[in-house]
Parts: sequence; structure tokens; C-alpha cells
Amino acid sequence: MIPIAKPNLGQEEVDAAREAILSGWVSQGPKVAEFEKAFADFVGADYACAVSNCTTGLHLALLAIGVKPGDIVVTVSHSFITTANVIRYCGAEPLFVDIDPLTFNMSPDALRSALEQNRTQRVAAMLVVHQMGMPADLGSILQIASEFNVPVVEDAACASGSEVSLDNGATFERVGRPRGDIACFSFHPRKVLTTGEGGMITTRHERYDRECRLLRGQAMSVSDLERHKAGQIIFESYPKVGYNYRMTDIQAAIGIEQLKKLPSMVQRRRAIVEQYRQGLKDVAWLDMPLEPPYARTNWQSLPIRLRPEAPRSQKDFMQSLLDSGVTTRPGIMNAHQEAPYADHKEPLPHSEEARARTVLLPIFSSMTDDEIQTIIRVIHSA
Ligand SMILES: *Cc1c(COP(=O)(O)O)cnc(C)c1O
Repeated sequence: MIPIAKPNLGQEEVDAAREAILSGWVSQGPKVAEFEKAFADFVGADYACAVSNCTTGLHLALLAIGVKPGDIVVTVSHSFITTANVIRYCGAEPLFVDIDPLTFNMSPDALRSALEQNRTQRVAAMLVVHQMGMPADLGSILQIASEFNVPVVEDAACASGSEVSLDNGATFERVGRPRGDIACFSFHPRKVLTTGEGGMITTRHERYDRECRLLRGQAMSVSDLERHKAGQIIFESYPKVGYNYRMTDIQAAIGIEQLKKLPSMVQRRRAIVEQYRQGLKDVAWLDMPLEPPYARTNWQSLPIRLRPEAPRSQKDFMQSLLDSGVTTRPGIMNAHQEAPYADHKEPLPHSEEARARTVLLPIFSSMTDDEIQTIIRVIHSA
């Protein structure tokens, strides 16, 4: 059975986790600080704040930006449900806009018209997803953000190691630098870099970083590590209602090792997609995903789209692959098709079509060439 994904964890991560466990410091401490520094350097961010997962990271990012009850946050429905949920955590409402069907990411045109139609309500933020690791059209979106004076939060959950260009492909930089105001990453095992569970918030604003650090640790005025090192008695204070959204040092130790492997994992994934492209180029009833000129993706997921003339339905196609030992997943979900967001009224045809016609194929960096060829064969005979 070929799985849809597999984390790339080895002896280096085992040794690092063991060392953290035996160090006597297992909660948020020196390894978390080291991982934050390494991640900030890797993406080119001024600040990085580690958290328990990307969901908690996005929650803190929206709070730091100032999203409050009654606000509107513009985002896509076509995303993992976290993207919508974190808006509700703040007491705000998502305003869903449709995607560009070719990239599965927020359509800048749909974004513009949503903002033009909502001039009376306070739009507190845009939550822009780099779906499946594919960078969104940040150049166009940031232009709109500055015209409407709305801060941008990037849901970069899937985008560790992805690169984006703001000059249409002339130069690239890593997602997370960030060009928006805050970006949040996930280290869940379905993503490219994993720490079991985990997340990272990167920003260029010192005040957002300070707020996220405060809120992840119950808003305690001094961290455990600072108090431990102080050499004098400190009584802490709690100026706000905070959360426990901390990462452990065991996770951070694993993350430091994963980050060293990230460029080679991304390189391998890109080579795997090239093999898929070669092997599937004469299958007329499916479309391989597009990589636009402003994007260099990490291929966290590999979405193929079944054309209307495809011989099988999405479900039949997936079942036939499963019967031949190949695991797949349907395209990304839409929040507005789930109960908590079913009151959404504007049509989102491209989002619904993407869910109904897309199939995610197996991709992980330890995949063998034989496994890829097997999958290509199975698809041909399906
Ligand atoms: C995985 C994912 C998340 C959630 O990440 P967690 O670390 O599991 O909380 C959020 N947004 C998107 C787009 C994701 O794919």
C-alpha cells in the first residue's frame, strides 16, 4: 500500500529528541529559542515565535493584528477548516471569496470585488492561504491590501520551504519572510517539515511578535526560562487573558533537525512531480497542477484535476486506485459546505468544483522511483 504522505524522520530526530528529554528541560525553553532563531534565519524573517500548532498560531496572529468581535476577515472557503475557525475564535466572521481554479488559491479579482462590496463593515484582516504549499499571488494581493489599507495574515501552514516572487519570477524569496504582516506555519506530519504537532509565527513587526509571545504563555510577564536564569526572585504578573499555546523543547529539537533537511526534501518533492508530469502527460482526461511564474512550491500535496470527460467519477477513480494499493485524498474541503459556515450565501463555484474534481496523489520525499512508476501505471489503467 502506498500512503498519501509519510513524515521524513530518522536517527537525527531520534537523537535530538533523546538529548532534549535527558537535558532536564522538556517544556518551552532553550531548544524552542534555538529553533525560532534557525527558522527566522531560514525564511528571512525578523521574528519567529514557536507555538503548539498552526491553528493556535493563526489565532494569536489575528489577535495581535487586532481582530475583535463583530469584525470581518476576508479569506477563502477552499481550505482546511482551521482557516475559517480561527476567525470565529476571535468573534469575527469570515467573508469567503472564490479561488482561481488553476492555482486553488485566493483570486485577486474576487478579493477586490468582495472588498468593494463591503465598504460599510470593518474588514480587520485578510487571511491569505498558500494552499498545499503553492504560494498565492502575493504581488496582486498585497497591492489590493495597501489600496484598502487592510493587514495581511498568511496561512502558510503547508508552505515551509516554498518560495514566492514579487517581480513575476525575476527573484524569489521564501514564504514567511513575510511580505504580509504575519505568516503562520504548521509542523503537522501531513506537512513537509514536522515536529508531530507544532507551528511557527513569523513577522516583521516587533509589536506583533511581542504580543504573540505574551499570549502563548498565559500572558505571564516573564517566561519560565527567563525566571530560571534570573538569579534573583521574580514575581510575575498576568496583564491579560492568555493561552497555553507553547511548543515543547522535545518538538523544537526535532524541528531543528527537520529544518536542516528541508531544502533537500523540497528538492526531492519537486523531482517527484516532474516524474509524475512525464508519466501522465498523455492522459487526456486529467490536468496536472499549474505552477505560476511567481511561485516555486514545495509540493506539500499533489492535486490532479479530473476533466468533465474523465471516464470515472472522482470517487470511482479514487476507489480504483485504492483497490490497486494507491492511497489518495479528495481535493481540499470548503468550509462553507460544512455546518458551522453553511449560512454563507455568495456562490463559490470554483471552490466547489475544485473539491468535486480534484484528487490528491501520494507524495513524500522518501518515495522511490518504483513507487512513482507504479502509481503512474495504475492511473493509466484506471
Ligand atoms: C494543516 C493546515 C492548518 C492547521 O495546521 P495545524 O498545525 O494542524 O493546526 C491550517 N491551515 C491550512 C491551510 C492547513 O493545511
